[in-house]
Amino acid sequence: MTVTADVAATISALRREVCALHAELTRYRLVVWTAGNVSARVPGHELLVIKPSGVSYDELTPENMVVCDLDGRVVEGLHAPSSDTEAQAYVYRELPHVGGVVHTHSTYATAWAARGEPVPCVLTMCADEFGGEIPVGPFAVIGDDSIGRGIVDTLRDSRSPAVLMRNHGVFTIGPTPRAAVKAAVMCEDVARTTHISRQLGAPLPIEQEHVDALHDRYQNVYGQRPAGADQGRQP
Ligand SMILES: [Zn+2]
Repeated sequence: MTVTADVAATISALRREVCALHAELTRYRLVVWTAGNVSARVPGHELLVIKPSGVSYDELTPENMVVCDLDGRVVEGLHAPSSDTEAQAYVYRELPHVGGVVHTHSTYATAWAARGEPVPCVLTMCADEFGGEIPVGPFAVIGDDSIGRGIVDTLRDSRSPAVLMRNHGVFTIGPTPRAAVKAAVMCEDVARTTHISRQLGAPLPIEQEHVDALHDRYQNVYGQRPAGADQGRQP
C-alpha cells in the first residue's frame, strides 16, 4: 500500500498533532522513559499514525511518527512503530467511531489495574467523563491481538472511554486523539483522588440517576462547545 497525494496532507497534519499530543503525556506526568503512546486514525483511510518505538519523548518529531495500516504494518516511516500498534490497530478495526487511542502506565490508575479493581464512581468528574466506574480489562500479553481484544470487549458496551488492563495500565479511546488524551489525563486524576479518599475512609457512592444525569449533561455540553474549548466546566 502506498500513500497517495490526497491523503498526504491529512497525514502531515496528523503527524504534527500526534507528536504534539505526546507532550501532554509528559506534562501531566502520565509516562516515564519511552512508555506510553498516542495514535490517530487517518479519517477515511485504513491507516493510523503512531509514536515510534523506543524513541525518547524529547526526540519525538512529526517526521518520526510512523504511519501503519490497520493490520499494524508500516506504510510510511523510518522507525519501527510502538509495540502497542497491533493493539491499537485492532481497536480501530473493531470500533469505527474511534479516532484516537492513548496508552499509559500512569501511576494511580495502574495501581488500580494491578489489583484488578475498577475505579468506583464516587466523584462527579468520574460520572461526567466515564459515565460510571472505570472498568478493568483482562490480563493480556503483547504478541498477539489479545490486548486489542481485551480493550474492545471491555469498552464496546461501556460509556467509559478508559479501560484499566489488568496488571498493565490504561488504554483510552476518543472520537479524536485529543479526546483520548483528555480521557487519559482524567482517568489518572480520578484514580488518584479516589485512592486518596479511600485512605481517609469509605468514599460515598453516587446514585445511578445522578451518574446518568451528570454524564448526559456533560457529554451534551461538550458536544455543543466549539473545538478547542474542552478544558473546564460549565458554570
Ligand atoms: Zn504498556
